[in-house]
Amino acid sequence: MADNVNLRHVTKIYRMGDEKIAALNDVCVTFEKGKIYCLTGKSGSGKSTLLNVTAGLEKPSRGEIVFGEEHVERMNEKRLALFRQRYIGFIFQSYNLIPTLTALENVMMPLIFRGVRARERAAAAARMLDAVGLKNRARHKPSQLSGGQQQRVSIARAFVNNPSIIFADEPTGNLDTKTTVEMMGLMCGMAREYARTLVIVTHNTELSGYADGTISISDGRIESIV
Ligand code: ADP
Ligand code: MG
Repeated sequence: MADNVNLRHVTKIYRMGDEKIAALNDVCVTFEKGKIYCLTGKSGSGKSTLLNVTAGLEKPSRGEIVFGEEHVERMNEKRLALFRQRYIGFIFQSYNLIPTLTALENVMMPLIFRGVRARERAAAAARMLDAVGLKNRARHKPSQLSGGQQQRVSIARAFVNNPSIIFADEPTGNLDTKTTVEMMGLMCGMAREYARTLVIVTHNTELSGYADGTISISDGRIESIV
């Protein structure tokens, strides 16, 4: 699938007892294929909700999420699971690596779900570890790696599937300034090289220099797109 991702009038309301929270309020945005976006906004402004709804991890209360021609909000759970495996990569602030698996095995995980054969999985995962500069750490467990190295593994895992769009939710939130700059360069470089769409949530407005567009969100509403 080689297409833009469109959010049309997306609203997400959480109910907490009697209270309703509009985590997203009539959001319209387009993520163009192959472009890099920064998503900024205060804590609680709806950034993670925007990623999760776009990735089909949560259902919108109203509105449409359209990948090319495909409506994410209309998919059932089974279809959604396949869709995510095929088209979406995720990078988390806390890396979310499986502690008992090696770096190589962690990177192989998305390919297991897709039924790729063992030999091919290992070869593809090794190529990705090489691409993120961790060729010599393939047999290390996450606890034997630094924070920056763990995030490199999770970047390799996000890209190994050839997803069309990668979402990174505060990927550098736990990293020092030097490592942050390295990780931004790595993620953006890989997105450019493989022509993938990349959406990065960040508090750090200096990082918008890496992006083609910066989307600012406040109280669940898009404040600006530049
Ligand atoms: P951000 O990622 O920008 O910090 P979130 O998208 O996590 O913000 O949250 C947006 C708003 O929605 C916040 O007010 C938050 O408290 C609320 N919220 C998020 N997830 C839930 C949930 N599962 N149930 C109820 N409220 C939620
Ligand atoms: Mg968040």
